[in-house]
Order: sequence, then structure tokens, then C-alpha cells
Amino acid sequence: MSTDHHHEHSSSASLKRAFILNLSFTIIELVGGLMTNSVAILSDAVHDLGDSLSLGFALWTDRVARVKRADDQSTYGYRRLTLLSSLINALVLVAGSTLILTEALPRLWNPDPPAALGMIGLSVLGILVNGIAVLTTRRGKTLNEKVVSWHLLEDALGWAVVLVGSIVLYFTGWAWIDPLLAVGISVFILFNIVRRIKEIVSLFLQQAPRSIDVNVLRTAIESHPAIDSTHHLHLWSLDGEHHILTVHAVLAADSDDRLYREAKCHIRDTTRKFELNHVTVELEYANENCDLRQTNH
Ligand SMILES: [Zn+2]
Ligand SMILES: [Zn+2]
Ligand SMILES: [Zn+2]
Repeated sequence: MSTDHHHEHSSSASLKRAFILNLSFTIIELVGGLMTNSVAILSDAVHDLGDSLSLGFALWTDRVARVKRADDQSTYGYRRLTLLSSLINALVLVAGSTLILTEALPRLWNPDPPAALGMIGLSVLGILVNGIAVLTTRRGKTLNEKVVSWHLLEDALGWAVVLVGSIVLYFTGWAWIDPLLAVGISVFILFNIVRRIKEIVSLFLQQAPRSIDVNVLRTAIESHPAIDSTHHLHLWSLDGEHHILTVHAVLAADSDDRLYREAKCHIRDTTRKFELNHVTVELEYANENCDLRQTNH
């Protein structure tokens, strides 16, 4: 479940409930996958382990963020913990999917017949668990809740595919269907992790958030007559949601006390429109000497 984008107001009671449900279901799948000798079920178990982990991490980072405020050592607080947990989560999924692939690929040529009837039962359970979860989250209004709901629907559809495969397997005895499903699911998981890792790396490299065009932001700041130019503009994101801006703004040549304050107000209003809540501005008079005017960072 993509709870990486959870907010402080997501109630931790519902998170805890979802975590316990997901974790129990993951354990059922792992045991069921081993008992039915089905790599398809096991690959879906890996996916659900990832969901459980991200829910567990969300619970943990929520608590840490609430209990541990910013202090003299971690002056930004602990928002970046979500980056760390996303990375751990991604690595666990890479390891799990790779393990499944090494088990499933040889089975394509040397099928090891799984217990089709058990697979059918587990798939029906998977559809029920995820389907009910979709129905309970569908009324959610926040973007986060919608993302979670969509994800759960995807999970339910994944189980529907496994169900169809198991039924075909049951009637035809084509054992290669099981590893084929496992390879498909694992590749899908890895494909999504690559996307997630790209986002994490971008945050680690302190790249500007994709939702904001730095040129548009710069132009908006410089649009006020009291502001002549800007430099030392740095925009990055703590966790993908909370962005940080630092900027030097040079005032117009004949600026006085009133224009100084107007410029400051303008920058505050502009950055608020871009939903930047952590902004540091340095205003300079035109005849000031700032070393950072010439540098390219
Ligand atoms: Zn899932
Ligand atoms: Zn601050
Ligand atoms: Zn400067």
C-alpha cells in the first residue's frame, strides 16, 4: 500500500488496523504458498509483505514525528525518516522478488505441480480481503486515501488473475501457469520499485520537487517592481511533501524601507501559493556586495 504519502492527520488507529490485517494475510499467504507449492501465491505474498512493511513504517514514523520534535541535533525534525523507511522497503522487495524469480524461472521448464484447489481458495480469500478494504477506503476524500484505494483495487485484480490461472490449472493440469504468473507478478513489483527508487534518489540528491517549475517560481518572485533579480535560489524537498526554499533577492535600485517590506510580503505570498512552508529569504540592496551573486549554485 502506498502509505509513503501519509499525513499527520491519518488516524493511527486505522493505520494500525490495516497493518495488522495486512500482516496476518501476508503470513497466511506465505504459509499457504509453501503448503500449495505455488510460486504465484508466494510472489503475491512478497508484494503484500511490502504493503505490510510500508504500513508498519508509516505507523513508526508517525509516532516518531509526534513524540520527537525537532531538536538541536535534528533541526529539521524527523520527516526524512520516511526516506529511510522507503529505501529499506524497496530493498526488501527487490530481495524478495529476486528470490521468487530464481525459484520460478527454472520451474517454467521443469514445472513442479502446485495444489490448484488450495490456490483457488487462497485467491478467493485474497479477492475478499482486498475487495472489502477497497470498499471501506473508497469513500476517502484525500489524495492519499484515493491512492490507497486504487492500490487495493490493483491488489484485488492481481488476485483475480491468480484465481483465473488457478482454475485453468485445475482443469488442464498445465503446471507452467503457476511460475508464469509468479514471473509476471515479480516483474510488475520490480518495475514499480525502480520507479520508487528513482523518487528516493531524487530526494537524496536534493533535486527540486517535480511539482514545482523552478523557472516559473523564479519569475513569479522577480515579478514585483521592488525586486530586481534573484540568486542563490535553492529548492529541495525533505520528504517529497515538505519543500524548502532558500533565496537571495536584490531590491530595485532606489528601494526604501517601504519597498523593502513590500518585497518581503510579495515573496511570502508568492511562495505560499507554491505551497512552500519553509522559506528563507535574504534581501539585498542593489549596492550591497554579495559573494553568492557570482556563483552558479
Ligand atoms: Zn498491495
Ligand atoms: Zn525554519
Ligand atoms: Zn546574495
